[in-house]
Amino acid sequence: MSEVLIKVVNQESMINLGTVLTNFMYPNLVIAMTGDLGAGKTTFTKGIGIALGIKRVINSPTFTIMKIYEPTINVNNIEKLYHLDVYRLSDSSDDDALSEYFSLDGVSIVEWADIINDLLPDTLWHITIANDGVDSRILTLECDAKTDINKIKETLRSNNYEIINWFFN
Ligand code: ADP
Ligand code: MG
Repeated sequence: MSEVLIKVVNQESMINLGTVLTNFMYPNLVIAMTGDLGAGKTTFTKGIGIALGIKRVINSPTFTIMKIYEPTINVNNIEKLYHLDVYRLSDSSDDDALSEYFSLDGVSIVEWADIINDLLPDTLWHITIANDGVDSRILTLECDAKTDINKIKETLRSNNYEIINWFFN
């Protein structure tokens, strides 16, 4: 499986992780995020905003469900950032129009994605953030087949991220 577990020691490191991983994102990518309230989903998204040169402050779109941001820096021709937080939807039948954004030329990042699981495309990234102490988090990234996970690991190591291995290989 294309999966990597990354130790994220503090808030700045989470923002920077979002920035570093943006280089591996592409138009139409959907990122399904899970993790408790306060895990760092929005913090990670702020890092994507930095990579894309988004001028507006990215904060949780809980009350609006979705916010659309305009990049000012071209990264892999990503034309928009669609930031969704579906926490307030009880299930996908509440708003199936949301999935229309998943096929546009932007990156869609969905907080609490498991609530709308049946609207998500087959090809996506999954990010799960787990608490690991007050400021420490373990972020699990599962990529799709077209993403080079080995290149991601190499890039993360060179940015001083600790990669956690579950098994010996
Ligand atoms: P979520 O969107 O998952 O509910 P937020 O990103 O809005 O979470 O909030 C995360 C909170 O946790 C922020 O207050 C942030 O300062 C704090 N925090 C502490 N350590 C970290 C870390 N390693 N990564 C992300 N956030 C962290
Ligand atoms: Mg949030």
